[in-house]
Amino acid sequence: MDIAHERYLHLIKQIPSTVSMDDMERIHAAFEYANEHHGSQLRKSGEPYIIHPIAVAENVVELGLGSDSIIAALLHDCIEDTDATYEDIARLFGTPVADLVDGVSKLTRIQYTSKEDEQMENLRKMFMAMARDVRVILIKLCDRLHNMRTLQYQSTPKQKEKALETMEIYAPIAHRLGMQKIKWELEDLSLQYLDPVAYDEVEQELAEVTSAHAEFLANMQQHIEKRLAEEGIQCQVFGRVKHIYSIYRKMYAQNKTMKEIFDLYAFRVIVSDIPTCYNVLGCIHDMFKPVLGRFKDYIGTPKPNGYQSLHTTVIGREGIPFEVQIRTWEMHQTAEYGVAAHWKYKQGMANRELGTEQEFEWVRKLLESQQDADPDEFVHTLRVDMFADEVFVFTPNGDVKSLPAGATPIDFAYSIHSAVGNHMTGARVNGRLVTFDTPLTNGDIVEIITSRSAKGPSRDWMKICKSNEARNKIRQWFKRERREENIATGRAMFESELKHAGLTIAAVTASDQVLDTLLKQLRFGTLDELYAAIGYGGMSAQKAAGRIKEELTRLGRLERQKAEQDALQAAAAAGETIFPSSGKPGQPISQGKSSSGIIVEGLGNCMVKFAKCCTPVPGDPVVGFITKGYGVSIHRADCPNADPARRKPEERGRWVKVAWTADAAESAYHTSLDISAKDRDGLALDIAMALSTQKVKVNNLSARSQPDGYAVVFLELSVKDRSEISAVINKLSQIPGVFLVRRAGE
Ligand code: MN
Repeated sequence: MDIAHERYLHLIKQIPSTVSMDDMERIHAAFEYANEHHGSQLRKSGEPYIIHPIAVAENVVELGLGSDSIIAALLHDCIEDTDATYEDIARLFGTPVADLVDGVSKLTRIQYTSKEDEQMENLRKMFMAMARDVRVILIKLCDRLHNMRTLQYQSTPKQKEKALETMEIYAPIAHRLGMQKIKWELEDLSLQYLDPVAYDEVEQELAEVTSAHAEFLANMQQHIEKRLAEEGIQCQVFGRVKHIYSIYRKMYAQNKTMKEIFDLYAFRVIVSDIPTCYNVLGCIHDMFKPVLGRFKDYIGTPKPNGYQSLHTTVIGREGIPFEVQIRTWEMHQTAEYGVAAHWKYKQGMANRELGTEQEFEWVRKLLESQQDADPDEFVHTLRVDMFADEVFVFTPNGDVKSLPAGATPIDFAYSIHSAVGNHMTGARVNGRLVTFDTPLTNGDIVEIITSRSAKGPSRDWMKICKSNEARNKIRQWFKRERREENIATGRAMFESELKHAGLTIAAVTASDQVLDTLLKQLRFGTLDELYAAIGYGGMSAQKAAGRIKEELTRLGRLERQKAEQDALQAAAAAGETIFPSSGKPGQPISQGKSSSGIIVEGLGNCMVKFAKCCTPVPGDPVVGFITKGYGVSIHRADCPNADPARRKPEERGRWVKVAWTADAAESAYHTSLDISAKDRDGLALDIAMALSTQKVKVNNLSARSQPDGYAVVFLELSVKDRSEISAVINKLSQIPGVFLVRRAGE
């Protein structure tokens, strides 16, 4: 018998008896087909090529996968390396097998040149996403495992390349799928080639330490077994030494000595159910001193990849720490085989439904709603949908880009650089020209054709693209490149909003100071920038108009307060401390016995003047200020110039209490109002009409049109009291275009 048939027989012996005779015949046919097609091809080891697919199939059998997977493993290199086609395999072995072989071939075609770290996660995700059926990944892992086991026959550069790829891509995927056994072997095999010196060092030191502790370990195992038997616990105890790569990492990455690694040795106690796990834990802690902070309950809180066990570290009699891992057989299978363990359960537990198992989030994601399906159907429909919302594609340089599902060449172009997107004139996917709205699929190689004379993106692209990144960059382009257009659109939108708010653009541009303050508030340098932002959609016109209205109101108030304060200071500088109440300076309009309508506390009948800054009228709370030679100046209590906080210390004694007399409202008092309004024809007339209907005596009315279409109207009135002026303010406020009516000093 030749070596191929010898190895094939070895494989057959390991296939469980649950596989039907029909399937055994299909497996045999697959072997014959692969053997024939690989023909005289040789492995680097000099062995016939067929040895490799047989070995991969053995690994697949060990994982417990079914006959379709075994057949696919035997055929896995046929499409890639022989003249066999997908159609041939589908015809002879069925579409499910052909799909598996095709999936493995696609993964084989991915070229992983050495990548930067941030590319690795994308590569791993793409690998998972491309496989679609998780069995494809499992077969590919089995393939890689055999190639790593026979890596010694490859050239040194090839060894390094494959080892790095395995460490970066395959081992993490095995880990993610919970397949500890394969993961550990892949890591150790990779390390042998990536850092052979360190590998040998760790291996040698570990051998010395373990041989020195061999007797101790054997003792501990016996000790544990004896105690658990006494407790009536059915279990199996295994001793193990940590795998080389994990020791290497702790020694080199965490800078520990081998003595400082607590879990160098571990005992695994495997029992039948979860309550027994905790019983065993109790016994172990009773026998040995636990190391504080080393107990971990991964049964209560499984690891993200589904791993479950109780971990504790204890100190043995000779002061040597060791770890004890306690788990059920089911957990053990899951720890060793990860996702593949589910096939193993199904094989041995025909009556159990998958849904009754303690499941893990990631498995649930994989399972979709297939819990009730029979095993074959279950594995057939098991999909890797973990990355269903992402698509992974290659740049021509082999970098991987992760894009949202449904992404188009537009998304791809902008993910490279804005300039690539903005200058895009065409796109190729896998070498073929495509339209810009073509959805990309996993593994596509995408190439963007650019031209310096490209017109730039069209607004439609924002609807076609799927990523926010592309949309934002296209918007940015319009913001920059279509500035004139944006300014014009923005200005129109803004003016229409202002109109809505009862303002005009002239109100905004009334003075440089107002404009500057407004723009600063809205965080724009110029009015054009504001328009442009509104035009390309970076700022809402409504929001801008709203802010401007608020700001105008606030500014108007500040300006008046400042003007009055300045006037007060100017007067003080000129030696005056009194303001003429009206008309000619220093001539009170109400004077005499009680005609002033004011009683000054402690001063009896004295001369009073009404301050021009706030023009008080009966009904207003008032205070008095004794001037030098001009009597008592009467301010409203809320006048900024009478604010107690701003009174000068040396003048404190000159502020006096005053009150309106009972008959005060029988006289008329000068007061003034400011009206802010949108300028229009007939505004002054409307104001005059309103005052006339209120029967108010107007001493002066002056309207000042601003060059921007904004108007300020000053009114001097004679009223008898506060309620009358309130009525006037109310009436004036109702005039169209008027947005603010204020008394002086407010
Ligand atoms: Mn292979």
